[in-house]
Amino acid sequence: MDTKLTGSLDDCKIIAAFLVIAIHTSPLTSFNAEADFVLTRILARTAVPFFLMVTGYFLLPQYIFGKSMDHRPLLRFVRKTLLLYAAAILIFLPVNLYAGQLEDMGAADFIRMLLFDGTFYHLWYLPASITGVLLLWMLGKKFSFQILFMICLALYGFGLSGDSYYGFIMKLPAVEDLYNGLFHIFSHTRNGLFYVPVFLAMGARFGHTSSYPSCVSAYLRNRKRRFHICGFLISLLLLIFEGMLLHRFHVQRHDSMYLSLLPCMAFLFAVVLSIKKRPVPVFRSISTWIYLLHPLMIILVRGAAKLTHCQAVFVENSLIHYISVCFLSGFSAWMTGRYFTFHKHRYDLKGRAWIEVDRKKLSHNVSVLKDLLPPGCKLMPAVKANAYGHGAVLIAGILNQIGIDSFCAASVSEGIELRKGGVCGEILILGYTHPEYFPLLGKYDLTQTVINSRYAKLLNEYGKPMKVHIKIDTGMHRLGERAEHVEEIAHIFELKNLMIEGIYTHLCADESTSPKDRAFTEAQAKAFYQVVSALRKRGCSCPRVHLLASYGLINYPELSGDYARVGIALYGVLSSRSDVEGCSVPLLPVLSVKARIAAVRDIFPGESVGYGLAYTAAEKRKIAVLSIGYADGLPRALSCGKGSALVNGRRAPITGRICMDQTIIDITGIPGVREGDIAVVIGRSGGEEITVYDIAEQTGTITNEILSRLGGRLERIPV
Ligand SMILES: *Cc1c(COP(=O)(O)O)cnc(C)c1O
Repeated sequence: MDTKLTGSLDDCKIIAAFLVIAIHTSPLTSFNAEADFVLTRILARTAVPFFLMVTGYFLLPQYIFGKSMDHRPLLRFVRKTLLLYAAAILIFLPVNLYAGQLEDMGAADFIRMLLFDGTFYHLWYLPASITGVLLLWMLGKKFSFQILFMICLALYGFGLSGDSYYGFIMKLPAVEDLYNGLFHIFSHTRNGLFYVPVFLAMGARFGHTSSYPSCVSAYLRNRKRRFHICGFLISLLLLIFEGMLLHRFHVQRHDSMYLSLLPCMAFLFAVVLSIKKRPVPVFRSISTWIYLLHPLMIILVRGAAKLTHCQAVFVENSLIHYISVCFLSGFSAWMTGRYFTFHKHRYDLKGRAWIEVDRKKLSHNVSVLKDLLPPGCKLMPAVKANAYGHGAVLIAGILNQIGIDSFCAASVSEGIELRKGGVCGEILILGYTHPEYFPLLGKYDLTQTVINSRYAKLLNEYGKPMKVHIKIDTGMHRLGERAEHVEEIAHIFELKNLMIEGIYTHLCADESTSPKDRAFTEAQAKAFYQVVSALRKRGCSCPRVHLLASYGLINYPELSGDYARVGIALYGVLSSRSDVEGCSVPLLPVLSVKARIAAVRDIFPGESVGYGLAYTAAEKRKIAVLSIGYADGLPRALSCGKGSALVNGRRAPITGRICMDQTIIDITGIPGVREGDIAVVIGRSGGEEITVYDIAEQTGTITNEILSRLGGRLERIPV
């Protein structure tokens, strides 16, 4: 999964679900039977294969190509599908009973129905997808993809002869007997054995190739896309032709399977995948709910029309009937999907200790920082160190949604975490990457910093095209090739595997505008731009140049560049209180840290609290135990009254030593504190506030350190 921009798959699944409704309501019958046949028996037959391909895309590459032994994703799929099936059986049971469908049915028939046809006309899909997935999983263990795909094609061919091409089989009595025997077991060959596998396999194939992002140019990508669109249109025409021909000559027994459906689906899937879009969590499940619930909505529309004597409009006009079923199905699916997405996130998150991330304040900071940007410059937020403790995937995801598509991170593993979290756009790795990790740069489409000219050779020797930005050292003497070494830097441009997309430097005295620091900063910028112009003179192209971080953008915006790599300011904070007091940009801190009160208790004169008996009560006191400790990033230096927490809008000093997982505060005199209440460690409670500046000052450091050390154990919750 290169950048996981698979939102378009979810969108198309929703379209597919509405096509399935069309199959079951025939929207055009009251106008033209032929047109309805083309829509519902030919075009809409792309819907279910699309569902299957998406399942294959996400679930199967690891088993078919990766020969993975981790069976958890497979079991999760089977369990989830079985659960849905069980729920759907229950939902439709009253209808089955009302229609008398289960009368006179033996146990064997019932089991056959459960395994193949489903208990309601649309439910065959669920057992079929489980059968198909298990089949491919077993085949994938034994065979290469080529052989597996041949087997799937053979199965499809066999199914085809029991479906759209049945008329030809009828001419061969022996074969006809075979099929008729099988039709005692299942009523269609459109099932988990003959129909499902080939589409799952095609989806898996797409899922496999896309894990190797092509470094091809936009030009080639467009050409490929045009080829796919043409292929889709041509095979779609063939499909229509094939379907109408078979229909005209009464060859079909059923009309789910066609020959041209295979190329048609392959091209369609390629076209949809080329539309890169971020997934929206609720959208993922909507199509499933539409699929499962729509027969109920058909009954509902018909029932309501009958009761209100509106059948002429809502039933006899097939199009209005279809639209009303779609509307009700879409609405109920949306509500159900939302219910489940909401409940999925509700548990655990605020059980112990957590960080609340204020989206509005983050957007506010983005917009005030954007106002500072020199012309032509755009933000490239630094989301390293888990986005300064705020949660890298969460922050980058929010920023993606407000249109930001370049980020910088410190390491490859941070970059991978972002990609796995669905973050899209350019991700620049600012730090050193060990050569052993070079393959990951390509796999996850990360851009590496060239930290000096020796490292450039190392990157080039890896032998595959690699996106890079070159770092220039203009006086910080950390990473970067010395600005004086123009010759060496120019040589980097000759290395054929490096795709040089940018060149940058880092300012190291820009937090101050004192004459001395200003002179130094301006000298850094001058040295940097001299390198850039010398390179350009030699014909080296440096597409993007950048040098500003937060303080650079605030204090020296005139130094310009194509990107501003803002970190700390984006989170609404500067390194120290004096900096923020002298700053005219209205930044708003984005994060607060909260913890549950695990216990409230009394201690009596002479009793001590915590490790080392560091605090002994002189008189009776009331204490509360917070479920947060130094392992969560609360500095242990705040022990014994140096720091405090807020409870019910009042300040409660930390008493005794902060433990790894817990902290004890003195709540004597604060009324109404109960176990399970919430204490604020950073942030506001009533009129009181603890800022990250307070904590940084109490522990002799800068806010950057306090924030970036907030622990991985804290949940990050957007509010
Ligand atoms: C961390 C970092 C930034 C972001 O710095 P802030 O001061 O937090 O804005 C920018 N560039 C480089 C090279 C960095 O290491």
